[in-house]
Amino acid sequence: MADASPPSEPVEVRLRDLRLGSGPVEIVARVLRAERREITRSSDGGRRSLLSGLLSDGTATVRFTWWDPPREGVERGDVLRAVAPEVREFRGRTELSFGWKTRVGPASEAELPVVRPEEIPSRGLKDLTDPMEGFRVVARVVRVAERSVTVGDERRVVYDGLLADGGATVGFSAWVDFRLRSGEAVEIVGAYVREFRGTPQLVLDERASVRRVEGTDLPTPATVLDAPPVAIAQLEDTGGAASASVQGVVVGLLPPSGLVYRCPRCRRSVQDGTCREHGPVTGIPDLRARLVLDDGTGALTVNADRATTERLWGTTLEQVLSGLRDRPDPAAWESSLLEAVFGRRLRVRGSATRDDFGVTLQPDTVEPAEVDLDASADRLSARLGDGRR
Ligand SMILES: [Zn+2]
Repeated sequence: MADASPPSEPVEVRLRDLRLGSGPVEIVARVLRAERREITRSSDGGRRSLLSGLLSDGTATVRFTWWDPPREGVERGDVLRAVAPEVREFRGRTELSFGWKTRVGPASEAELPVVRPEEIPSRGLKDLTDPMEGFRVVARVVRVAERSVTVGDERRVVYDGLLADGGATVGFSAWVDFRLRSGEAVEIVGAYVREFRGTPQLVLDERASVRRVEGTDLPTPATVLDAPPVAIAQLEDTGGAASASVQGVVVGLLPPSGLVYRCPRCRRSVQDGTCREHGPVTGIPDLRARLVLDDGTGALTVNADRATTERLWGTTLEQVLSGLRDRPDPAAWESSLLEAVFGRRLRVRGSATRDDFGVTLQPDTVEPAEVDLDASADRLSARLGDGRR
């Protein structure tokens, strides 16, 4: 008969090379994540156990589903060999399913494929899009800072920062301490891309590895941080940037600005003593300013934190709180803030994001700009003149 050819022997492949509809395969990979569940069959109400998670062999990371797995064992970090898994595709991504035909057993580290870094495609930071994985990047750490976050009930430390190569700057979040230092050049393998507020960001978790490299042709932190200001219109067009410097004049304040109260648990603004996530709470007083900065080509919102607001205003949170006893009208304090910042020429650097309301800049630095009556100032006064007519 035409299709009587004997079933072929499984061929060992790397996860990167898994294809739908190919012959039987065999893989060796490490468990990155595994979660056990019980599924109830709708047909007869019978229970079936299921283990699902992520596998990686250094060339790619794929989801796997394991029906009727062993009762115990199989933990994060284990290396498995699976013979004849089923290759599937979900939303354009390859997945593996271990069913009754699949033989799965433990394997050793030494059986994992040896992946030389040069086998993994190299990407420039400007080419990173969400979703993307299985690449390496070489970049300069421009800055890095430690931040503590709450994930569920757990406190975790995240290392946030900025990477730069010759083509772009991209923000990163590392969930593992890779001991990154600003100024060093690194090669990163095994990270993935996620979109954060409309801009791609590199995420490093336990799958990622970092190697120090020479990086002589990479920009220095100073060249990235002292980059000349860009036109706000350009940020409106590109949709944001991990690091951008703009220069303009403060033409207004957006609410909420001035004295605000924040939820003690999530720091969101509290409205009428209620956090929209945590219900009634006793708000913690804070100062902020949402400055509208105009450079003649466009305007954006600068989210100034307490320290920056106090510096621009020349008034501290303590002064506002004690002053409220004599002058209990919050609106009067807001006009005092507006008076202090209106018309100030500022140079602001930070990460810019765009949404339906326009571009918002989360500043790293806010400095007074030299007063010079250049063309952009003329354009600005022309625009303000138009607006008032
Ligand atoms: Zn809250």
